[in-house]
Amino acid sequence: MLLCILPVEGVQEVDLYEMERFVEKTLPFRTRREVAMLLPPGAHDPKRDQYDGTVILRAALELCPADASRLLVVMEQDLFIPMLTFIFGQAQLDGTAAVVSLNRLRPESYGLPPRRDLFVERYLKEILHELGHTFGLTHCPDPRCVMSLSVNIINIDQKRAQFCGNCTVRLADKLNTLRRESGVTEE
Ligand SMILES: [Zn+2]
Ligand SMILES: [Zn+2]
Repeated sequence: MLLCILPVEGVQEVDLYEMERFVEKTLPFRTRREVAMLLPPGAHDPKRDQYDGTVILRAALELCPADASRLLVVMEQDLFIPMLTFIFGQAQLDGTAAVVSLNRLRPESYGLPPRRDLFVERYLKEILHELGHTFGLTHCPDPRCVMSLSVNIINIDQKRAQFCGNCTVRLADKLNTLRRESGVTEE
């Protein structure tokens, strides 16, 4: 099964590489990097100076390669949905596309010294969380589970880059269904 990574101009090569390795290690997917997407003009809200996640997901879906089972957009720009001041990411529940913003994941964003290991850990958790939604997983009450809701960076730091037992079972079910649908008998 194929997961396409669709970067927006500005995301560092080293981070995309880190994400691809992580996805291939953690989920039964191979990854492929797509040519960077241009942000759709309608996605930028000049008053908030942020980008509308729903508009970006819609634009990304139009670029989705036919052979992709899942599509992950990665961007540096800050994301929002109208009812929230910001979001770390957004996904179609039990759907194809997810988007993650790196904007608020660096310690520097909180006035702290840079720490690459922490930054990487945070975006890997966010990626796994949003991809989890595309596999039909909803928010988990276990704050250590990667599917727990994160409204701030403390929530992200509390969780692990792993699914809890319950979410692991639900995920395995979904992945089995996807494998059957895509005609893959072994992985
Ligand atoms: Zn979520
Ligand atoms: Zn869970």
